[in-house]
Amino acid sequence: MLEATPKEIIPRKALRINPAKTCQPIGAMYAALGIHRCLPHSHGSQGCASYHRMHLTRHFRDPVMASTSSFTEGASVFGGSSNLRQAIKNIFHIYNPDVVAIHTTCLSETIGDDVPSIIRSAQELIPEGKHVIHANTPSYVGSHITGFANMTVGMVRCLAKKNNADISCRINIIPGFVEPGDIREIKRLVRLLEIPGNIFPDTSDVLDSPMTGRLNFYPEGGARVETIEASGSAEATVSLGSFSSLPAALELNVRYGVEVVSLKVPIGIEATDRFVMRLLALSGRKTPPVELAKERGRLVDLMTDTCYQYQGKRVALFGDPDLVIPMTEFLLSLGMQPVYCLTGTPGRKFVEEIKRICDRRVPDLRVEAGADLFLLHQWIKNEKVDLIIGNTYGKYISKAEGIPLVRYGFPILDRIAYPYFPNVGYGGAMRLLEKISTALLDKQDAEASDEQFELVM
Ligand code: SF4
Repeated sequence: MLEATPKEIIPRKALRINPAKTCQPIGAMYAALGIHRCLPHSHGSQGCASYHRMHLTRHFRDPVMASTSSFTEGASVFGGSSNLRQAIKNIFHIYNPDVVAIHTTCLSETIGDDVPSIIRSAQELIPEGKHVIHANTPSYVGSHITGFANMTVGMVRCLAKKNNADISCRINIIPGFVEPGDIREIKRLVRLLEIPGNIFPDTSDVLDSPMTGRLNFYPEGGARVETIEASGSAEATVSLGSFSSLPAALELNVRYGVEVVSLKVPIGIEATDRFVMRLLALSGRKTPPVELAKERGRLVDLMTDTCYQYQGKRVALFGDPDLVIPMTEFLLSLGMQPVYCLTGTPGRKFVEEIKRICDRRVPDLRVEAGADLFLLHQWIKNEKVDLIIGNTYGKYISKAEGIPLVRYGFPILDRIAYPYFPNVGYGGAMRLLEKISTALLDKQDAEASDEQFELVM
């Protein structure tokens, strides 16, 4: 399908081919689903809302609910104020959420709708004890990661308070645009370290909620409103990922003086070590729990047993910056060469961080932010790699070039169960290791002659 991609790389500024990102409201919608009893609301046309819901539903294989201001020609010309007022009234009347999280779209941003003013003017339509929060998510800048970050900042702006004495909250944890399975694992690590931590947004038990046989409009999971309210009284905010989580941590710092602890998403042994050690310091414990030490030991054992498979293997890695950065570090710790690192989300700090991590250990390094899969394919055509790591969209390059693909990131549309199992923590690193090893060995088996076809690896 992509066999015709040319080798010659011509610099492009105004054209993206096969983008390595999606639009801001998808990230905002995902973040909003991480609040308990929250209905995301798309302030724009029905088409945008359908696309965002469908994209999330295809990845999580759970129905994603969201409402829309349903812009037609009239709203597109005169603004969507009356549509939004009507929507707020209808949503609380019919669906009765605790929170409505409004995000804008390209259309409402281009019109220039002032959403905070519209919400202020609709106060009489918001029932007592209910909340309407909002974020600006124009999709012609940034990516779904920017939208996630903007909605998380919106949670802080609209809900966080200082001196909420009712809730014991010492540490906020903002997990970033990761899977429900990752959040569940982060919560387990936090429990093991005995830290009174509040996680938001939290999509575990929302987008991976169990089948009970009963219709439950709002699943059990999601961060409680009180949790987010109490975030202004915390000692520190641990933000995982500088693109998706740090802006909300900074907002809490500016508003309420909450200390910011900025870490990578704990993917791979080094990032998990840093996460554990920082939380250990915050908890006041001297040594990590025995269970965690054992998990780490098992990971090191597996890395040692299989290291010969990875040494010097060239990898093309693409996806969301907060996932690509720790994965680059992990690949280096395995002795692999992450020669191509690419994200669709714009930001110089991605390029700087990858260069800092790789230092002089990857002589052939090519790294680009705000780039597309067409460019990644051209790099690969010019000099092959042994493995591609990235989301489902990488399968076209994988097929065209005959290079195995390890599915990693968002979205995974063509394989099951990805959101259920964590990539984070020591257990997550073992899972990634298994996937990388299997991909390399499957290719080796497929290409082996009869004499080289080994039963035992
Ligand atoms: S119009 Fe904008 S907000 Fe709507 S789907 Fe397209 S990029 Fe996303």
